[in-house]
Amino acid sequence: MISTIEVYSPKTLPEAYAHLQQLNGRAKLLAGGTDLMVQLHDGVAVAPAYLNIWNLDELRGIQDIGDTLRIGALTTYTQMMHSPLVRQYCPILIEAAKTVGGVQIQNRGTLGGNIVNASPAGDTLPILAAFEAQLELGSHRGIRVVRFNEFYTGYRQTILAPDELVVAARLPKTAPNEHLFFQKVGSRQALVISKVVMACKAQVNDEKRVHSIQIGVGSVAPIVIRLRQTETLLQGQKLTDALIESAKQSAMQEVRPITDVRSTEHYRRTITANVLVRFLRQLLE
Ligand SMILES: Cc1cc2nc3c(=O)[nH]c(=O)nc-3n(C[C@H](O)[C@H](O)[C@H](O)COP(=O)(O)OP(=O)(O)OC[C@H]3O[C@@H](n4cnc5c(N)ncnc54)[C@H](O)[C@@H]3O)c2cc1C
Repeated sequence: MISTIEVYSPKTLPEAYAHLQQLNGRAKLLAGGTDLMVQLHDGVAVAPAYLNIWNLDELRGIQDIGDTLRIGALTTYTQMMHSPLVRQYCPILIEAAKTVGGVQIQNRGTLGGNIVNASPAGDTLPILAAFEAQLELGSHRGIRVVRFNEFYTGYRQTILAPDELVVAARLPKTAPNEHLFFQKVGSRQALVISKVVMACKAQVNDEKRVHSIQIGVGSVAPIVIRLRQTETLLQGQKLTDALIESAKQSAMQEVRPITDVRSTEHYRRTITANVLVRFLRQLLE
């Protein structure tokens, strides 16, 4: 039996909001489709209606707004990779974009899709966590701005209301004296989902005292997390071999990984700690 599926392709954002309001949670949004089409193929993400937002140019593009970099939800990995603004103010987003899938996925996959798909292994998510990004959520009621670090409430659960969509992410621009770090650990270099993915942002003074540090990690808990305990341990301290060893032990304890088809719990704990040590050693150099 062939069942009918409703597909709507609004041309403007207000039109999309009106559809979302009218469909009252019955619709699934379709952006680049690189996650959704796979999920549909697997019989997941089946919905009575789909709202194709790909035509909404208002959701595309990267803007320089004062001390903020604003990236539209429909901006693709390829667009981020070629953006001089991203290169200047958040170059690790380019590193992450380059590791996502292959060229076809980079041309079609979007930042908003990565965020709302809510996989703990999403490659851009540790960067948004470390940058303390904010998200613009839009609906017929207007725009509300929320903290990215408060967006996920559990495994693949978000605070997005049924009639809302993600409009853009706002990232504070990296200061010239801030050190950035991104590393994705997988079974191979290309086309791989991470076993661990980490993004860090830190400032150290001339004496190698940690002025600020933010550590975002994916694939080690039901949602992307910040290593807050480890950050507190490092904050204000002078980087030494002993401190780095303490941070390593702290990171190992702080993550909550599981064993699955991609990796074991033990491996993920160990590798998270080792990747953090790599960053801290870079700061020392
Ligand atoms: C072969 C392959 C390799 C991949 N490799 C990687 C990888 O290395 N790293 C990685 O992180 N991901 C990877 N992915 C996953 C995927 O490409 C990314 O998560 C991508 O960013 C999803 O974006 P999209 O626009 O295609 O989202 P879609 O598939 O269109 O949507 C994903 C989800 O987000 C929702 N959604 C999308 N946009 C919005 C919005 N603006 N507001 C509200 N809801 C929205 C949709 O309803 C859906 O639930 C891979 C996928 C494939 C098929």
